[in-house]
Amino acid sequence: MIASVLPTYARAPLNFVKGEGTWLIEADGRRFLDLGAGIAVNALGHAHPELVKALSDQAQNLWHVSNLYEIPNQQRLADQLVSLTFADTVFFTNSGTESCELAVKMARKYWYEKGQPERVEIITFEGSFHGRSSAGIAAAGSEKMTKGFGPLLPGFVHLKWNDHDAIKAAISDQTAAIMIEPIQGEGGIRPVPEQCLKGLRDLCDEHGLLLIFDEVQCGVGRTGKLFAHEWAGIDPDIMMVAKGIGGGFPLGAVLASEDAAFGMTAGTHGSTYGGNPLGCAVGNKVLELVGDAAFLDEVAEKAAYFKAGLEALVARHPNTFKSVRGKGLMMGLECAVPNMDVVNAGYDALILTVPAGGNVVRFVPALTITKEDIDEALARLSSAAQSLG
Ligand SMILES: *Cc1c(COP(=O)(O)O)cnc(C)c1O
Repeated sequence: MIASVLPTYARAPLNFVKGEGTWLIEADGRRFLDLGAGIAVNALGHAHPELVKALSDQAQNLWHVSNLYEIPNQQRLADQLVSLTFADTVFFTNSGTESCELAVKMARKYWYEKGQPERVEIITFEGSFHGRSSAGIAAAGSEKMTKGFGPLLPGFVHLKWNDHDAIKAAISDQTAAIMIEPIQGEGGIRPVPEQCLKGLRDLCDEHGLLLIFDEVQCGVGRTGKLFAHEWAGIDPDIMMVAKGIGGGFPLGAVLASEDAAFGMTAGTHGSTYGGNPLGCAVGNKVLELVGDAAFLDEVAEKAAYFKAGLEALVARHPNTFKSVRGKGLMMGLECAVPNMDVVNAGYDALILTVPAGGNVVRFVPALTITKEDIDEALARLSSAAQSLG
């Protein structure tokens, strides 16, 4: 008999009833150190007092109004994002894959309105993840996500992840945009080197293409900059955001330059819930806290400390771990044993990690994690490795 919850997830038998910062408490009382943070969602940890207050204050007054009306919270969050980033304009969604939907629509509408409606193709990369909507799976293109779900949304050109020549060869008079995660998350915590991000920007400028960054996982302070592409000193034309921006409340956004967005006039796109008062109350507080320069510096500093610890861990357990990868508090260990063995051993050692592609175990903890928590995490990972022999 089918489970009453559609069985699309292989769930661990863990039932968390309370969260405190970087800790999750199981129904049986065990305290787990959470290095997954809801997969890079709980950017400020669980039950952050200021987020709890922002959400409950808003809940007392107004939960939802339609985007048919003005929403001051939403306006303020858009203004903040515009002032802190390359963007001139923002559309709010409820998830990463909805942000992908709009990014794809915006890129195609751009060329349509520029009088080149044949430019519909979007170049994407092997190992990428853009969510589970029809556009998201077609964009990523992996068999794992697309098999059985055809016919797929056409117009995506899938290239190998690090093949510069292939990108140049793939550009044609039908190309609209290049879409890429500055750091692949699901694909195995693979940062695109800064010079390659610059190269992509140059290539897009040369051919007049739109550059779309998917910062759903790597954005919102995760790398020690508000957005990961800032390390490369270049800007996209369109950027997808979600996960951390809501700190656990479902919220996403598409940020765009004025030029990239010029086809998106009244009536061309919409969302019932996108940017609603509850979501934006939380988003404003997240951005206020994470957008602070001292907070971001601290993320970078803690990340360097964590990375050094992970390197020592690999050196101590060469039969379990092969190498460290990632940037900021978006780190991974490439494993010498099946990565799920490490994740499961972590459950026994009371630490939560997340598997990723390339046999990687992923760490995307709350950005508020302390050095003491990092020490504890390294000790628990070490005992997990020990238990695997
Ligand atoms: C998680 C993720 C998505 C999809 O986000 P959802 O909120 O699950 O739809 C898209 N892109 C990247 C890079 C992600 O990590």
